[in-house]
Amino acid sequence: MLHIQTQSSDTTILFAARELKRYLEKMSSAPLEIALNQTAAVGDSILSLGLFADFSLSAEALQDPQSDDAIDIKVEQLNGRIAGSNPRSVLIAVYRFLELSGCCWLRPGKDGDVIPQKDITGLSAVLQDTASYRHRGMCIEGSVSLENMLDSVAWAPKVGLNTYMLEFMLPYLYFDKWYSHHGNPFKEPEPRSIEECYAYKAMIAREIKRRGMTYHDMGHGWTCTAVGLPAELVRPWNAFYPEIEPGVQKKMDKYLAMIDGERKIVHDSPLNTNLCYGNPEVRDIMVDNMLTYCLQHPEVDVLHLWLGDSWNTQCECELCADTTPSDFMIMICNKLDKVLARHKVKTKICFIAYVDTMWPPQNEHLENPDRFMLLYAPISRTYSEPYDDNTEGVVLQPYVRNKLPRPRHVRENIGYLKEWFKTFAGDGLCFEYHFWLDHYFDPGYYAMGKILAQDIRQLEKLGLNGIIEDQTQRAYFPTGFPMYLYGKTLWNKDAGFDALAKAYFAGAFGEDADACLRYMASLSELFDPVYLRGDKGEAVNPGMVEKLARIPALVAAFKPVIDRNLSARDTAVALSWRYLSDHSQMVIMLADALKARAGGDMQAARTYWRQLERYAYALEDQIQPALDVHDFTRSLARLFAE
Ligand SMILES: [Zn+2]
Repeated sequence: MLHIQTQSSDTTILFAARELKRYLEKMSSAPLEIALNQTAAVGDSILSLGLFADFSLSAEALQDPQSDDAIDIKVEQLNGRIAGSNPRSVLIAVYRFLELSGCCWLRPGKDGDVIPQKDITGLSAVLQDTASYRHRGMCIEGSVSLENMLDSVAWAPKVGLNTYMLEFMLPYLYFDKWYSHHGNPFKEPEPRSIEECYAYKAMIAREIKRRGMTYHDMGHGWTCTAVGLPAELVRPWNAFYPEIEPGVQKKMDKYLAMIDGERKIVHDSPLNTNLCYGNPEVRDIMVDNMLTYCLQHPEVDVLHLWLGDSWNTQCECELCADTTPSDFMIMICNKLDKVLARHKVKTKICFIAYVDTMWPPQNEHLENPDRFMLLYAPISRTYSEPYDDNTEGVVLQPYVRNKLPRPRHVRENIGYLKEWFKTFAGDGLCFEYHFWLDHYFDPGYYAMGKILAQDIRQLEKLGLNGIIEDQTQRAYFPTGFPMYLYGKTLWNKDAGFDALAKAYFAGAFGEDADACLRYMASLSELFDPVYLRGDKGEAVNPGMVEKLARIPALVAAFKPVIDRNLSARDTAVALSWRYLSDHSQMVIMLADALKARAGGDMQAARTYWRQLERYAYALEDQIQPALDVHDFTRSLARLFAE
């Protein structure tokens, strides 16, 4: 008999124990009784779960054992301990132990785990490991169902992720994109109400907290609540808000940013609209609203303060003209810190270097940096080059109100980050977009991983302590390798791209893993993401015609390997091959469309592209958990625009 015993009644550690029990029961080839927190008899096996202190293990090497994850596994013949520096680390340690025992976490959801069948009484593992970076997270984006979100939250700690963010007051748009099936000609809308989506957000937050993950919330929206406009990311906003109440209109007339002499909503979006931050009443209202939110949501570990979601829309009035938006943001932070302290609120606040606030403050500085984190969000960067801390020779543009450029080169973006760090020496992390729209430029899902891994390795040199990816939650098509790579490299920055590729593909594809890896690398090379992003100049490109023309033969040569694996015994492995099978049809169609485009025949290119769009939407129910068809088509459609 096996006993799993926890050293405390912490809910996350109890959850870790239940997960361990659940997976060991699935794994055991012979019937085995597993008891949870019961007294063991002589001769029983015991696996003990707890914090480092429960086993007299030292956490001294960690800056902050609550925030920094470390694990210690010592199991011999199914007897021993699985320990973590905090409850979340205990859960991560359980998944690592299971992984060392042969489990593979290929992707979220049904048939995502490979669980070997074996005699588990001989399981042994010894491992001491510390995460390279503190912040390892995902943030909701794309088009998602509630199930997609719950599956994603459940999968995240299996690959070592420890942070989850639910963006905005309500991430309504992301749910609505899925449930209304925007763009899909084959599905009837199943829209959800605002109230239902608030319930979804609460359910997802509970699952994040159950796993002890750090929960980040909000971001854009404080500019909306300040004047009484909807902050739920609804579009078109005026469909949800047909008549503006006189009280709201009065506040808009007074508090919205003045641009070209007018205080009005920009881009038809309250979330994109900035406020007149030079007006102290505006700053006070924002501070009050953030305090209220913290008091109402004690489950939030990190609350984000972002300004309007747009470039070059700052107020031009005389109260604002001489002060940068970053200076105003820091003024709000300082005031907020004081009122939070007065109310004994410990919530951390994350402010952002993004669009106009990529330019650091000129005069203000944080009075209590320990309360704060800097979120570095280089949304205009290219993914054709990795992070590089060498900024020698880079020319930075001065801050000029509403006339800022959008820096594309990575070293230029890093240059602004370095300027920020001259004013703030605290905790910093990235908000990144590898898995938002850019990853669709790499149908091999291989080359983008190389940039991602290099970016992660560079974080330490840049003074950043992790990443939250603003991403579709369905980024597993055709393989889950880039997301696996993401979690594993954030945990161990020196894990190595090739070693992780070998491990992932072996788990996902079995005996033909090496051939599959070569196939994916070849697809990346022939589609050439650098070209698709537009970083090689003109769309018309004879060299690309030649490369794209080689894709059908590449796919045809690999198709027999796919076909013979579709009935693999393990259902998770079989699903990996089924996704590759669906993908193989799509890449041939995409190659046809892109080849016509590279040859200058846009009419043919658009015809091929529309066929592919239709094909992908027709397949959507089959590939839903792995591919965000809405964002896939939205991203690539730009290449075929009229
Ligand atoms: Zn102003």
